[in-house]
Amino acid sequence: MHEGILRRQSARESAARTYARALPIVPVRARGLTIEGADGRRYLDCLSGAGTLALGHNHPVVLEAIRKVLDSGAPLHVLDLATPVKDAFITELFRTLPPGLTDHARVQFCGPAGTDAVEAALKLVRAATGRTGVLAFTGAYHGMTAGSLEASGGAFDVRVTRLPYPHDYRCPFGVGGRPGAELSARWTESLLDDPKSGVRPPAGMILEPVQGEGGVIPAPDNWMRRIRQITADRAIPLIADEVQTGVGRTGAFWAVEHSGVTPDVMVLSKAIGGSLPLAVVVYRDDLDVWEPGAHAGTFRGNQLAMAAGTATLAYVRENDLAHRAATLGSRMLSQLRCMAAHFPCIGDVRGRGLMIGIELVDPEGERAQGLEWGGTLGGDSDHGHPAAASTAAHPAVGLGTTVAGLDAHALPGHAPRTDAASAELLVAETAVPAQGPYPAAPEL
Ligand code: PMP
Repeated sequence: MHEGILRRQSARESAARTYARALPIVPVRARGLTIEGADGRRYLDCLSGAGTLALGHNHPVVLEAIRKVLDSGAPLHVLDLATPVKDAFITELFRTLPPGLTDHARVQFCGPAGTDAVEAALKLVRAATGRTGVLAFTGAYHGMTAGSLEASGGAFDVRVTRLPYPHDYRCPFGVGGRPGAELSARWTESLLDDPKSGVRPPAGMILEPVQGEGGVIPAPDNWMRRIRQITADRAIPLIADEVQTGVGRTGAFWAVEHSGVTPDVMVLSKAIGGSLPLAVVVYRDDLDVWEPGAHAGTFRGNQLAMAAGTATLAYVRENDLAHRAATLGSRMLSQLRCMAAHFPCIGDVRGRGLMIGIELVDPEGERAQGLEWGGTLGGDSDHGHPAAASTAAHPAVGLGTTVAGLDAHALPGHAPRTDAASAELLVAETAVPAQGPYPAAPEL
């Protein structure tokens, strides 16, 4: 069965499949962090559904919530009619929101994927401001649907201005740490305020509090606060894309909480559906200027996903799994940094909570000649020191991302169900995207 399935699917499925295509695994069962293949082997799943599986696979509370809806005879599809299932989801979601949004927020259900919610957020800020352009950051990943509205005759025409995201290890300005973040903020200010820059007042700015696909790059808290100030001063709505960082993974329920920043709009998906497709935009209620029907999508009312999502959000909140992710994450980071000290092929280890990236480099690579490797190891992005924050010149080989679930099964009272020691590791590998180049930085 195993070989046949692999052969048929690789012959018929599109070449656009991602890194997972290289793994000769046919999962047939899964529980917690472990996947069992059709060949009987067991794997530790570090793919974790690209961040959807906050509680791991088939967590009992998620399965129970799904079964309850199925057994109740409730309709599975109702567009955006009001239902008890949706009511429970909205109530639980609002319990978790950052303090600044809880009392003044609205939620818009979107198509099933994160990218639908990103499109909705961009449409929303355009409608609310009457402006068109969008500010986004180098290395950002927000989805795959840039053309869908345009192709639908929507004349969406998004003009995106790219700004340098602070990145200690591959700092676009070559300094890293606090100076790199400071330069990024100044760069942003000067672009917005200089009439010669050609950047007209934008409709909004979108950012990831920890860039995910871009290489697991946590934004320094001070930088987040500066960016919030810059956007607030200029009445530019700030969109936090928490599709990947949400639901406890970074050590706070939402990653913006680390810096205390309240965005105007939050884009949420992945783990909020408890492993089923669900995507929403949450935003300040005064931005709710949409006409009825301004944003639709057939699958915006997925009842099973809402039930699974409610169970997940409640479980993470009630068991304070964000705190657990913070504790496990810092232990893991320090262990990985010890490893990095012994393995020159580990250029950098970075992350927040259990969202951790290990950047693999070629220490013998041409560009690496004569350079010290891994200058930022042990550094703290918020207290960076230029001497240690050398911009990595080693060619990147890849990025292993540890995207493990929050391992609820290992909580006290939940005996681990798998013998992890005998399992193999299933690791995501993404290419490290190119950054820059940037023209001369503004003077500090
Ligand atoms: N935003 C971020 C930050 C993401 O990481 C992703 C997916 N990796 C998306 C948006 C798009 O989500 P989806 O793949 O569900 O469209």
